[in-house]
This record gives sequence, structure tokens and C-alpha cells, in this order.
Amino acid sequence: MNPNNTSGARHPALSIVIPMYNEEANISRLFSRLFPVLQGLGETWEVVCINDGSRDSTLELLEKESRERKGLVVVNLARNFGQHAAVMAGFSQARGKWIITMDADLQNPPEEIPKIVEQFRKGHDLVGSIRKVRHDSCFRRTASRITNRLITKISGISLKDFGCMLRGYSREVVRGILENPEYRTFIPALATFFARNPVEIQVEHEERAAGQSKYSILKLLSLQLDLMTGFSMWPLRILFFVGSIVALLGLASALLIIVMRILYGPEWAAQGVFTLFAGLFFLVGCQFFALGLLGEYIGRIFQAVRKRPPFILDWVKRS
Ligand code: UDP
Ligand code: MG
Repeated sequence: MNPNNTSGARHPALSIVIPMYNEEANISRLFSRLFPVLQGLGETWEVVCINDGSRDSTLELLEKESRERKGLVVVNLARNFGQHAAVMAGFSQARGKWIITMDADLQNPPEEIPKIVEQFRKGHDLVGSIRKVRHDSCFRRTASRITNRLITKISGISLKDFGCMLRGYSREVVRGILENPEYRTFIPALATFFARNPVEIQVEHEERAAGQSKYSILKLLSLQLDLMTGFSMWPLRILFFVGSIVALLGLASALLIIVMRILYGPEWAAQGVFTLFAGLFFLVGCQFFALGLLGEYIGRIFQAVRKRPPFILDWVKRS
């Protein structure tokens, strides 16, 4: 038995949270790299694996491993809920003071974990990661670059790399995330809201060890939409601005047509057709404007039902 193996503690220092969906081909390879790293850390730890409704033998393999290894927590979800929901479930079961999320496909090398722990020891409560060289398809890389920029612009959250899941969260940050169970959310972005002392470090990124990416283009798009609508009201506001501009243009052209009609008579206005157009422009503009206004209210309702706290207290001092 390794003397540094301090797994299985009731309140470990570190929890590793790994969502798994059809990852049977990666589990043993992942564990054979992950556990030695943890054993060399000099901290107590646990590994929380969430089976996200896999249809292969992921769950059986996890159960088999848990009989043979100490410090493994297996969480089984009722069906497939998606990566972020699975991570949330993992958070709800993790007991560590520090919590690190990673993927099961070895794209996030376990050997990078000590770097994150080092940042925790320095007092950071959120450790983000930036992939040095990404081993993903060209399409995924370009799409990521564009969305990272776009999201930073519209949500005001500045993360260099939203996609990398090898991240560390302190207990407090995780508590904040769990107390705001938003149905469809994006954990790395939400975490920045609760962090007091975040830091971003560079990590290695590898190719998927086995199996296929669980993200189709459609799923990726839906994730981007979650990010955009979950963290910003800009899409709704755009409607409002476009509406205002169209309404103004409509009004201006209506006025112009009326003036021209007065100056040049009914022949110029093609027997009323132009006037009809002018009215139409104006009405269409008004419709956009009204939609935008509605959107603004819906946005406010949306913010209210999300129940995110308007502030997070650090401490209070009274004398
Ligand atoms: N995953 C999950 N539920 C899902 C999809 C994915 O738990 O519905 C897990 C998957 O097993 C992996 C991680 O989320 O551990 C990242 O998935 P994947 O590698 O397919 O994403 P990519 O690296 O292509 O972004
Ligand atoms: Mg992957």
C-alpha cells in the first residue's frame, strides 16, 4: 500500500469530479493515470464519477473499480442530463475543500492536477485553465475562438477559454453554484460570478483517448445559446434597438412621402401606393419596437426567476 495514499477520508481536501457518458473505453486508462497523481499529492482526496445515463458498460466498470479502489465515489444519474448537469450532481456529492472538474476522455491530463492544487494553496478560490495547444478539430477550434470572444463581449465575463473543463473551484464557489440551481447553465461562466480571487493557468490538452466526442454541432449550438441567454440580455436588447431604428426610418420616410405628395401632387405618389408604403414602414417599425419592449420585460422576468443573488457578501464588521 502506498504510504501517500490518503484516500477515502470523510472530509477530503480534494474532490475530483468527472462526468461520464459512454466512456467505457477510457475508464481504466484514466484511473491508471489519475490515481497515482492523487497518491503523490500529499493531500486527502476522493474521486467522484458521475454516470450520466450511459448506454454502454460505464456503470458496471465504475462499480467494479469502486470495489477495488478506495476513495472512489460513484454517482449514478437516472438518465442522460448532459455534461453540466452531471457536473452539478457531482458537486452535490463532493465533500472536498477544493473541487476539480475534468473530462473522462483524458483530453485533460491528470498530471496537471498538482498545478491547480498549487493555486488553491496560494489562496485562489477559482482556478481556470487555458489550453496551450488544443487537440480538437479545426472546426471546433475556430468555433471556440469566435464564441469565446463573442461571449466575453456580451456577457462581460472575461475568461480566456470557456471550453476547458479542467478547472478548480473552492467549496464556497461550489456552494454558490449549488444554491442557484439553474436548469441550463454553463458552470465555468457561472463560477466566475461567485469567485473572489480567480486565476487562470495554462494546461496541456491531449487528443481524446478513445470513443467519440459527445457533442454534435447541434449540441454545441445549444450550449452557446445557453451561455448567451443565460448570462446576458443583449440578444433581447438588439431587438429593441433594431425596432427603434426601423420605426424611426419608417416615420422619416412617411414624412418624406407626405411632403413630396403635397409638393408634386397625387401623380407623384402613384395614386396613394407610396402613402400606403409609408404607413406600412411605420407600422412594421412600431411592431419591432413593441416586440423589443416586450422582450425587455421578459428579460427581467427571466432574471427574477433565475434567482441569482444580487450580491454575495464577503464579510460584515460592526462596532
Ligand atoms: N459528458 C456527459 N454527458 C453528456 C455528454 C458528455 O457526462 O451528455 C461527459 C463526457 O463523458 C466527457 C465530458 O462530458 O467526460 C466531455 O465530453 P466530450 O469529451 O464528448 O466533449 P468534447 O471534449 O468533445 O468537448
Ligand atoms: Mg473531450
